[in-house]
Amino acid sequence: MRTFDYVRAVDTREAVRLLADDPGASCLAGGTTQLDLMKDGVLEPPTLIDITRLPLHGIEPRGESLHVGALVTMEELAVDPVVAERLPMVREALLLAGSVQLRNMATIGGNLLQRTRCRYFRDPAVPECNKRAPGSGCSAVKGVARMHAVLGASERCIALHASDLAVALVSLDAVVHVQGVSERRTVPLTEFYLTADESPERENVLEHAELITEVEIPLPPATARSGYLKVRDRASYEFALASAAVLLVVQGGVIQQARVGLGGVGTKPWRAYEAEHVLTGAPATTAVFKDASEATMRDAFTVPGTAFKLPLARRTLVRELQTVSGVKA
Ligand code: FAD
Ligand code: SF4
Repeated sequence: MRTFDYVRAVDTREAVRLLADDPGASCLAGGTTQLDLMKDGVLEPPTLIDITRLPLHGIEPRGESLHVGALVTMEELAVDPVVAERLPMVREALLLAGSVQLRNMATIGGNLLQRTRCRYFRDPAVPECNKRAPGSGCSAVKGVARMHAVLGASERCIALHASDLAVALVSLDAVVHVQGVSERRTVPLTEFYLTADESPERENVLEHAELITEVEIPLPPATARSGYLKVRDRASYEFALASAAVLLVVQGGVIQQARVGLGGVGTKPWRAYEAEHVLTGAPATTAVFKDASEATMRDAFTVPGTAFKLPLARRTLVRELQTVSGVKA
């Protein structure tokens, strides 16, 4: 690993100023993504700014939203009583991610900003990777692809965004609060991420000298039911091949409100607006759920190793719609 300077920031403004002063610097939260990539030689920041002492550790219901500090750990959020009662989809997405050891280190801010697991991105010995070396090509499109994306993908890059939490949060219209050198801003999570076919090397709209300080999650109506289904190669400690985050409000057998997010398939956490359009106002039946799932993959880009994801993602969504609505298969 290349040597680097370590600086511990004491408040958010100082952390942002340290980042602004050093264009190569990175910040360190739980370190579960950042340190792995440094050990592998993929990232070589000259300076690491430790943000773990910043006062961003709170979980607070305010009005009809839950405000979650960026340094709250995944495990802390998973066991929060408001999340358990009002946001089961978020709780399930967290508890199905990584291991308990990992969730006790990993933070919410870091989870949203985790980097892709594409093996070619994570191996600096591979020269062709548009994300690591813009303009060099994409090794995965011609190579071994399985844990890769089919939506928001193209020949330029098929890197999957592997966060489970982000899939739940995009479907709930969560908002990230961002602190820059001179201003704060809020960005809806649905507008935060860029797809790999837009820009393989840039994954989101965060600027270098900006920190995520908080995630604001609107609380769904009390009549809503939600859940998260994750399909993977083994039962624990594995990333999604396909996943579905579903929230439904059903009255008298008719779907009043539908929110759908898809994981394991997108170069960004995927909000499935087409499925929501089919579901809203329709009867809660398996036939409607199948129609909704058919609408999701129309713009997919596949390579031989990822073609299996289309039927898998559709079936995953139908299954979770059945579970959340209580409609039998
Ligand atoms: P760090 O590693 O410290 O940082 C990650 C990135 O975010 C860095 O670029 C850092 O500079 C930046 N950063 C961190 N916080 C901020 C902030 N507040 N503002 C601005 N920039 C920031 N995730 C899943 O969703 N599902 C899984 O099943 C899953 N399985 C995993 C299995 C393994 C073995 C591992 C290693 C990881 C897994 N992950 C999974 C990913 C894991 O959840 C992330 O690595 C973790 O959430 C990152 O959080 P962190 O606090 O450790 O971030
Ligand atoms: Fe690089 Fe993206 Fe291709 Fe992976 S899929 S090799 S990250 S360009």
